[in-house]
Parts: sequence; structure tokens; C-alpha cells
Amino acid sequence: RRAVALSATKGPGMTSDQHPVALLANIGRLEDAVRAAAEDVEGVGLFRTEFLFLERDTAPTVEEQTQTYTAVLEAFGSRRVVVRTLDAGADKPLAFADLGPEENPALGRRGLRMSALRPDLLDTQLQALAAAARATGADIRVMAPMVATADEAAWFARRVREHGLPSVGVMIEVPAAALRSRHVMAEVDFASLGTNDLAQYALAADRLQGELADLLDPWQPGLLDLVAAACEGGRVHGKPVGVCGEAAGDPLLALVLAGLGVSSLSMAPSRVPAVRLALSLHELAVCASLAERARGARSAEEARAVVAELAHPDL
Ligand code: PEP
Ligand code: MG
Repeated sequence: RRAVALSATKGPGMTSDQHPVALLANIGRLEDAVRAAAEDVEGVGLFRTEFLFLERDTAPTVEEQTQTYTAVLEAFGSRRVVVRTLDAGADKPLAFADLGPEENPALGRRGLRMSALRPDLLDTQLQALAAAARATGADIRVMAPMVATADEAAWFARRVREHGLPSVGVMIEVPAAALRSRHVMAEVDFASLGTNDLAQYALAADRLQGELADLLDPWQPGLLDLVAAACEGGRVHGKPVGVCGEAAGDPLLALVLAGLGVSSLSMAPSRVPAVRLALSLHELAVCASLAERARGARSAEEARAVVAELAHPDL
């Protein structure tokens, strides 16, 4: 019965009462982009650009980057493509931007912090993104990783706008940015929650340590509280907040996220049909009450169990 329902749902994501929740793909390499573009997705919610930079001795040139970005944008035609600027540093060191060893790489000079120390790398990337945007006329949106403060968001937004790029956002994956979302969102056009890092920093648990998986569970009510805070900041400004961490691909959790006010979910394309089905079986008000119940739980297990119990029996 479920298999029938899965293939029966198509097109844009929405709740049963037609509230839209865009279903987007996470992509990395150009091959992923081409594969994802053939799927029933509304665009890209997270284009990780690291692959262009890692494991090489020199920085990629403007021309090289422009070529890749143009190909990705072309693959998606008029569908939106959210590009994340370089998220390197720490455990993903760049041979051509060695900033020296660090005691705590996850808390170090990574993401936007690296871009601030090497603005030449960011400017080259933005130049290439702007050229690709001009060449294709695509719906391109550019966001920064690891933003912690409103000042950092403002710094990034100014640079992106200087290049004539039309839409700028930030990833919210640092707890302070979630709590201060109202001020962060004042500086940008949109935000996307990186629940993988947000869980790591909220629960103080290294995401690379398998034995800490229970703490990193995206159903942790503490993480859901931060998602709610981030959404509240977006609501104040009428600006969209999405999710692009692994949490977005869990159909039951997707209901909770929609109920908290998230307006797009970006995931591995293979997960989209199940999430689309889950949304189509619930009204937004039901999602909101599921979200409230999940936040009221005292543990991740309890949050998951209460939502599984109350959600549509086909899920
Ligand atoms: C995240 O942190 O949730 C995220 C989407 O980015 P990455 O996994 O690339 O750090
Ligand atoms: Mg991250």
C-alpha cells in the first residue's frame, strides 16, 4: 500500500492543506548534480563546493570554477540552486591555505572563518559564481557555512552583494546563530539549518565519533529547540529558513521541522519521495502539534516515539 502511495505523489512538496515545503537535493560533485537534476526535486538546497578545493596543491582558478558552476546551474535550469561557499579548514585542510595545526579543529578556523583569513579565496569563488549566474540566468542563491554572529553574516552579505549576486544567506549550524537568529536574519535573505553541525555543537559531541551517535540524534529536543529559535528569527523578518542537514531526510522528523516553520528541506535525492509522502498526509496544523509534542519530550527516543504514534499510520 505504501509503495503505491510513494509512486503516486509527485511534484512540489506540500502538506495536505497545500502549505508548500520545497523538496531539494544536497549535491557535491558535478556528477551528483546531473543525477539529482533528473529527479523530481525542486532544485538544490545545498551544493557543497569543497570538492573543487580539496586534495590539490593550488587553488582552482576563476575559469575552472566558473565552468563547474555553470554546468551545475545549467543542469537545474530555472530551479533554484543554493551554493555554499567553501567550508574547509580544520579537518578538511587546504594544501594552498595552510593556517597551521589546531588543538580543536571543529572549533577552529573553519568555514567562513577561513574565508575571513583568506578573503582572496572567497572573492575568487564569488567572482566565478557571479560569472556563472550571468551566463545562465539561473536562480542562484549563495550561502556561507559556520556563521556564528550577525556581524559575520553582515560581512559575508556585503561581499556577496558586491559581486552582484541576487540572493545571500547563511547556514545556521552554530547554536549562538540559532539563538540570535533575529539579528542574523536581518542581514541576509534566507537561512538554512545545518543540523549535523548544529547537533555537534549543541550537544558538545564530535560528529565523527560513532560512539556518540545517541547525543547526535537529530531528534534531541535540545536541537529542536534551536531549530524553533532559528525559525522564529526568520518569521520576524518574513524570511525563509530551510534545513539541509541529515534530519531533513527523515519523513517523521520532516513533519516536525515543517511544523516548526521550516520552508524547505534539502536531502539526498533518494529520500525525497518518502518525505513528500509524509508531508502530503498531514495538515500544517498537525505538523505544528507534532512539533510541540516532540519539543515537550524529555529525550530523543521519546520525541521520536510520540511523533511515530501520532503521525499517519502509513509512515
Ligand atoms: C550540516 O552541518 O548539517 C551540513 C549540512 O553541512 P556539512 O554536513 O557539510 O557540515
Ligand atoms: Mg556543517
